[in-house]
Amino acid sequence: MDTGAIASRHAEAFAAASDRHRRPSRAEAEAAVRTLIEWAGDNPDREGLSGTPERVARAYEEFFAGYDEDPVALLSTTFEETAAYDEIIVLRDIRIESYCEHHLVPILGKAHIGYLPAGRVVGISKLARVVEAFAKRMQIQEALTSQIADAIQETLKPQGVGVYIEAAHQCMTTRGIRKPGVSMVTSRMLGSFRDDPTTRREFLTMIASSRNAPYES
Ligand SMILES: [Zn+2]
Repeated sequence: MDTGAIASRHAEAFAAASDRHRRPSRAEAEAAVRTLIEWAGDNPDREGLSGTPERVARAYEEFFAGYDEDPVALLSTTFEETAAYDEIIVLRDIRIESYCEHHLVPILGKAHIGYLPAGRVVGISKLARVVEAFAKRMQIQEALTSQIADAIQETLKPQGVGVYIEAAHQCMTTRGIRKPGVSMVTSRMLGSFRDDPTTRREFLTMIASSRNAPYES
């Protein structure tokens, strides 16, 4: 399947999703926040909370901005053909701010991405935007990791790609079992990153100094 077909397939999926679920109005979203405030035990009419439903709705627009982006289309239109470069390209320490789909609380961490090009390369800011487009949604870390790797594989068609994410889940650190300091590591390796131990080792060595380093959470 060529990149245009992939992009239109994704666009269709987005359109189908929005057909199935009528998007509530901003006023309905704000009313829902008001209900949650009351349910939590506070008075949404007191001075400090009076603007909160509106602010929360605006914050949600930022937290979930990824639903308005099509990462595959983004990569499909921006790669450059270059036969000259045939070493691994690694982008380290990409900040992850995502939201756990079970509790809607932050997943904070960092991603490292590597790929071994087969003629196509893309600007590093575009890779960071792909991460952001998938992260700014309701997610689980495993799916986020796979979606980033698969989008790069489908569009750039490199010899291989590796995505490594290390993140803390606030649903684990601030509620439930309350285990601060615990982070979750996920990775997805495709092509030569999966099949060739040398390539895989090179990638892991290149990101080693960043792995396990402390990050803000
Ligand atoms: Zn959770």
